[in-house]
Amino acid sequence: MSYISWFNEHANKHKVIVEKLVAKEYTKEQIIAYFDFEYMVKNEPDFCPLYAEHKKCHDMESLNCYLCACPNFRFKDKGIEKVEGKTKYSFCGINSKDGKVGVYGDAIHQDCSACSVPHHKDYVSKNFGLDWKKIMKKVIIS
Ligand code: SF4
Repeated sequence: MSYISWFNEHANKHKVIVEKLVAKEYTKEQIIAYFDFEYMVKNEPDFCPLYAEHKKCHDMESLNCYLCACPNFRFKDKGIEKVEGKTKYSFCGINSKDGKVGVYGDAIHQDCSACSVPHHKDYVSKNFGLDWKKIMKKVIIS
């Protein structure tokens, strides 16, 4: 699946859930709490493929799914630049110390497997908005 396909599909799923919660007059705090991994696994099983196995994407006790993937991620499906003959498709916009550069054959992708930045409740609260695509506006490189 291309980055953009995942991005648009995820945006739609996020929007449906948020609209449902807003219609129930949930506050910002209640919406963030709803997106806690443990609630999402039970209440929104289709939101993430990992929920079926009750598996977290990161090993952390309290994981929040509201800002999955991450507002700091940057991607371009056609490739951003050539690096030593390989094509770079994504990178971290804040150069997080826990992020890694993943090299897969001729492709370079950002590896966020060891970075938990967007999954902390405080981070979600600071960067909160009802429109996921708006929060992620810098993610797609044109
Ligand atoms: S490395 Fe961390 S901060 Fe950077 S894009 Fe990945 S999850 Fe976000």
